[in-house]
Amino acid sequence: MSDTMKAMVVERLGRPDVMELRDVPVPTPGPGEVRIEVEAVGINFADVLAVAGEYLTRTKVPYTPGMEFAGIVESLGQGVEGVRVGQRVAALGGTGALARYAVTRAGGVVPVPESLTGPQAAAFPVSYFTAYYGLKTLGRGVPGEWVLVQAAAGALGTASVQLAKALGMKVVAMASTEDKLQIARNLGADVTLLQDDPERVQKVRDAANGHGVPLILEVVGGPRFQESLDMAASQGRIIVIGNASREQASLRPVELMKRNLTVTGLWLTSLMFDRAATAEAAQALAGLVGSGQVTPQVGPTYALADSARAFQDILDRKTTGKVIIEPAR
Ligand code: NDP
Repeated sequence: MSDTMKAMVVERLGRPDVMELRDVPVPTPGPGEVRIEVEAVGINFADVLAVAGEYLTRTKVPYTPGMEFAGIVESLGQGVEGVRVGQRVAALGGTGALARYAVTRAGGVVPVPESLTGPQAAAFPVSYFTAYYGLKTLGRGVPGEWVLVQAAAGALGTASVQLAKALGMKVVAMASTEDKLQIARNLGADVTLLQDDPERVQKVRDAANGHGVPLILEVVGGPRFQESLDMAASQGRIIVIGNASREQASLRPVELMKRNLTVTGLWLTSLMFDRAATAEAAQALAGLVGSGQVTPQVGPTYALADSARAFQDILDRKTTGKVIIEPAR
């Protein structure tokens, strides 16, 4: 094996084209770590924000993006148990996956079920755990209840629509184009609405018997956040998951009082540390994947050298499902 490999490197933060394809040393796994030959990397909106320097945590440069991936375990660091060379695994956490090889904590990898391809496995952890936490852990959604899913054809959106239907809920899906709404309908969305429909607030309220929706997965933010409050039913729960608009929202707490609304923040990275919540989510999701009730929606797939284009396509709202980069291509 060569000592060097191709990887995407970010030296200064900014637009996606700050990323450059470079030859870098192959990383060595330290104690408790494994080296994985990367088959597929799932790209999240968070990756795009991190490169721009707009993520929740500070991005330290230089670095190689890529937090969610699937591949084959190629070598083990000292003291690693429970993982074997040659095993197909998915991993979540850290950075460095936009490369031929990535090193990660052995404790952060899980075996990939036979039923999933590499790209499907790379499309799974972030979107499906977030959807589960939003719908169940924090959202406390129950069968028969309405939920509003924004950006419903995206990575988190498709996961949320599928999961909500599998959990017996009724879905209002919003997205920016008719083609995207068709994707949501194919996944079982009960009512679909264009993001810019001038009557969207009333139509969402009407969908749920004129009373508004009891649960909203809020990912757009900015001025749309106020609309989410208006679309919510009395005692509604609004789970703030993202801010894809990258615009500021304002919240007047008294407005929550009037209709007894609850606004809850959700960040996957910190919720993963809640062992009980994560174990419950993992068990439920494993069952739903095993029974074929949810299938990760793999979107457009790019070669490593085209990573900047992949990131830009996410920003430009051109993608649906989970964007995948295959470093071996
Ligand atoms: P997506 O695949 O959903 O892509 C982003 C989508 O956001 C676009 O396709 C677009 O859908 C929608 N969007 C709305 N307004 C804008 C805008 N002004 N610019 C760009 N896109 C816009 O990405 P992800 O599934 O990775 O993430 C979706 C959201 O969920 C993001 O806000 C992300 O940060 C958040 N998220 C948060 C997590 C957490 O732990 N809190 C974990 C995972 C995701 P459309 O064209 O239909 O409007």
